[in-house]
Amino acid sequence: MSRFWNSRTRELSPYIPGEQPQNRAYIKLNTNENPYPPSPRVTEAIARAAGGCGERLRLYPDPACRELREAVAERWDVKPEQVFAGNGSDEILAFAFAAFFETGSVAAGVADGVASRHNAAALFPDITYSFYPVYARLWGVPYECPRLQDDFSIDHTGFLTPCGGVVFPNPNAPTGMAMPREHVLAIARYHAERNAVVIVDEAYVDFACCASGADAALPLSVIDSINDHSNLLVVRTFSKSASLAGLRAGFAVGSEELVEGLCRIRDSFNSYPVDRLALAGAAAAVRDGAYYEETTRKIIATRERTAAALVEKGYTALPSRANFLFVRHPALTGAEFFTALREAGILVRHFNMGSGDSRSASRIKDFVRVSIGTDADMDAFLAVCAQEVV
Ligand SMILES: *Cc1c(COP(=O)(O)O)cnc(C)c1O
Repeated sequence: MSRFWNSRTRELSPYIPGEQPQNRAYIKLNTNENPYPPSPRVTEAIARAAGGCGERLRLYPDPACRELREAVAERWDVKPEQVFAGNGSDEILAFAFAAFFETGSVAAGVADGVASRHNAAALFPDITYSFYPVYARLWGVPYECPRLQDDFSIDHTGFLTPCGGVVFPNPNAPTGMAMPREHVLAIARYHAERNAVVIVDEAYVDFACCASGADAALPLSVIDSINDHSNLLVVRTFSKSASLAGLRAGFAVGSEELVEGLCRIRDSFNSYPVDRLALAGAAAAVRDGAYYEETTRKIIATRERTAAALVEKGYTALPSRANFLFVRHPALTGAEFFTALREAGILVRHFNMGSGDSRSASRIKDFVRVSIGTDADMDAFLAVCAQEVV
């Protein structure tokens, strides 16, 4: 605490990102970064955007982010006006909370003179991306957290209730488990009639193919449904499947009125959140789908192989459709397993929280989240896991 902090700053409990060690070389499986480099077209585009001696960096970037929005619009067959570009999807999520979810005083009272919204709290799962409660508290948005089922899947019926808006990742984090598309669309339909926005955070959706299983070939993303649901906002990032966590770029797709709402928040905050290099690099990534299909396919194959090897050794691994596994050791606590891996030079993520509720925290405290690296990374991880069992 500092005497210079105002009451808002004192009351914040900021998100704690995964460690980015600067000295010792770890096998880094803790922040779901992609182990493969981005498409070579991305680096070429970034060099061109900077100009020969970087002279183009003198100029502000395009505040409308046209090149990136047009690339996204073309790839997903929507209008550029239905695309919003941001400085990572975290920024877009923060803007979306600010733009669409009611704040405490309004949410508790009577919105627009209509008493029908008897509960205007935003909803997200009790075990999910831990940035959501941070944004909610930053903007003063009241929230409630329907509980995951015993198998850690999201019970979509918990979200079919009047509220101030809904947000969840699909696949969910840190479980990696996916909600069927029909359930996502049922949530969007339910809230469309009640003018509440449904945000689907598709950070991991490109990894949603499974190597086996009945739903292997079914697409999970609901981007193709935004024209049927004007209250549906789909948020994507370049940090995971596009191997560009260091660039900071993301986008959202939704109705023009949702995109305009996001622009109103952005332009009340920072008119140029996406820099020149990120705009060019992200647009090139969107245009090189073929390259990323290949790296994504490799990661999915490595995930399936790693999960099978863990289960064989007596570990629990939730059925993941993301680029990570949520893993429980057969005997050690999550903290002990995390420490054993760290001492062996492997960094994973241990979460000791739910959305502030200690019962949800205790359900996941014996799991660690392991990002999928290269085959060699995962072999090193599995070798430590084999030792730890005996
Ligand atoms: C990684 C992640 C993001 C953040 O992505 P950035 O674009 O790097 O800000 C958003 N949502 C979830 C669920 C994530 O895991």
